[in-house]
Amino acid sequence: MRTLRVSMHKKTQHKKTLQEVPGVKPPEKTRVSGIAMKRRKKEAISVDTYLEHIRKCEISWLSKAITLVESKQKRHAEKASGIVKACLPYAGNSIRIGITGVPGVGKSTFIEAFGNFWTEKGKKVAVLAVDPSSNIHKGSILGDKTRMETLVRNKNVFIRPSASGDSLGGVARKTRESIILCEAAGFEVILIETVGVGQGEIAVHSMVDFFLLLKIAGAGDALQGIKRGIIEMADAIVINKADGENLRLSELAKTTFENALHLYPEKENQWTPKVLLASAITGFGIASVYETVTAFIRLVKKNHFFEKNRREQEEFWLHDTIASRLKHDFYAHPEVQKELTRYLKLLSEKSTTPYEAASKLLEIFRNVKQRAES
Ligand code: GDP
Repeated sequence: MRTLRVSMHKKTQHKKTLQEVPGVKPPEKTRVSGIAMKRRKKEAISVDTYLEHIRKCEISWLSKAITLVESKQKRHAEKASGIVKACLPYAGNSIRIGITGVPGVGKSTFIEAFGNFWTEKGKKVAVLAVDPSSNIHKGSILGDKTRMETLVRNKNVFIRPSASGDSLGGVARKTRESIILCEAAGFEVILIETVGVGQGEIAVHSMVDFFLLLKIAGAGDALQGIKRGIIEMADAIVINKADGENLRLSELAKTTFENALHLYPEKENQWTPKVLLASAITGFGIASVYETVTAFIRLVKKNHFFEKNRREQEEFWLHDTIASRLKHDFYAHPEVQKELTRYLKLLSEKSTTPYEAASKLLEIFRNVKQRAES
């Protein structure tokens, strides 16, 4: 009898610890370990599992993998790098198109019309963004998906807003790796949007096959904030909003740009940049932008510039990454920081030159590195 009572008591106790009473918070320790377990379970997912689901174009898995690529945590970075590497053999088979223009020129509206057009041609489209300024105005591009209502609902389209809060180099790496993941998932056209301000265009130009500049008629270059260099990079300039009363002005702008483009020397890819009219709202000209891109791809595949350009882009990013990591390591070192302050003072006192100071500081950096290695 006694034994039975004891065992029953034990049983109730056991039950109590396992059962959650509604409305009562479980003890902190249990909740934390629950979260940790979930995390561990997630982290235990193998690279092969990711690859398998990505290859089947399962969007939730593609998104999860991109989130890993975008993560700043070291353990995520290792997994992300494994997934990207596993995806590499299945990547590369897309047309990568960069789209730039100042805010308000109609990028979102254009991407919506253009993206839908590609899907009507039977292609699967991924839309990514590079926004180096997004740490200031978070997720400003592609963030407002309401501007791409029909594209968001299109089941052959994947839209990923820009990664925010990072350096341009960091954002560029994330975008490039996201391109690889999207391609492995079977997306055949990758549209990469960037705002027409600052360094973003150069980064995007170095990761795409075709670079498209959106403009509007009536606004001067200064007003549109577009520098000459950007025009030089463009494979096509599209005068957007060529509708209604704006059509005549757009035609004039087209001639102006055509004349301006004639002044540039012939490009290595043998392509003559085109100036086109379009209206993202009425759909006018979207087909001719599509035809221009496909004609370009035909040409550069035929003359082998396509592969050459991609190879050079890979080399560019390798050098760019080395340069930025070395720079980061250099400036982050406490001894360098201390000596840098001293040399800046010497410089202001005219007791040294920038070249001598740089040499000395680099020598200090080399020495501390050597000391750390030995
Ligand atoms: P973004 O900032 O470059 O992405 O520009 P949006 O796509 O948000 O467009 C800015 C404004 O221009 C919106 O009010 C659009 O409705 C308008 N817009 C975009 N494309 C056209 C077009 O082809 N024609 C006309 N009339 N308006 C347009």
